[in-house]
Amino acid sequence: HGEPASGNAPRRRLTVVSGPSGVGKSSVVGELRRLKPDIYFSVSVTTRAPRPGEVDGEHYHFIDRAVFDKMVAAGELLEHAEFAGNCYGTPREPVERALAEGRPAVLEIELQGARQVRAAMPEARLVMLMPPSWEELVGRLTGRGTEEEAAVRARLAEAERELAAAGEFDVRVVNADLRGAAEQLLNLIDTDFEMIQEQ
Ligand code: 5GP
Repeated sequence: HGEPASGNAPRRRLTVVSGPSGVGKSSVVGELRRLKPDIYFSVSVTTRAPRPGEVDGEHYHFIDRAVFDKMVAAGELLEHAEFAGNCYGTPREPVERALAEGRPAVLEIELQGARQVRAAMPEARLVMLMPPSWEELVGRLTGRGTEEEAAVRARLAEAERELAAAGEFDVRVVNADLRGAAEQLLNLIDTDFEMIQEQ
């Protein structure tokens, strides 16, 4: 037997994964998804244009500014932020539903959003993914080849601000290798699970 799927299911903690653009958040979170498909991974809304290969509803919900503003006004976003000229936000309802069902939930968001989650849900676990070095991060960002030079500069400026806030996070994980970083994240989430089982 076990807990029912809803109602008085144990409430898992929300895990927020932040870190500078180019640190490999998407790859690490993708690896985590492969390791643990039963986690709920939030799909954000964004006003940014899709990159080649990005699928609407899978990587993001791509929406225009008017729809984004409406969602903000209606309180439908758990957090939202402007980043390098585009708007991003986390739809509230699917995250709350996953947590109520006792499923761990993971958000991959930038710093301002992480701070909003901390304020709204103090029990959330905030993880900052760190590059092995600043030089490595610059290399990854300039080598991506999908962004204009001005966009790369904006992202590097944001990266500096994000890394300066590392001390605000509960855990810092260095992304030296994809698998290792994903396993560290999984350990944090599984530890949480065991703690709840013991209660
Ligand atoms: P990108 O344009 O590279 O996909 O994302 C830019 C930044 O926005 C990344 O740091 C990414 O983690 C962050 N981001 C993605 N979705 C959200 C969201 O829903 N809220 C916030 N605050 N940041 C997000």
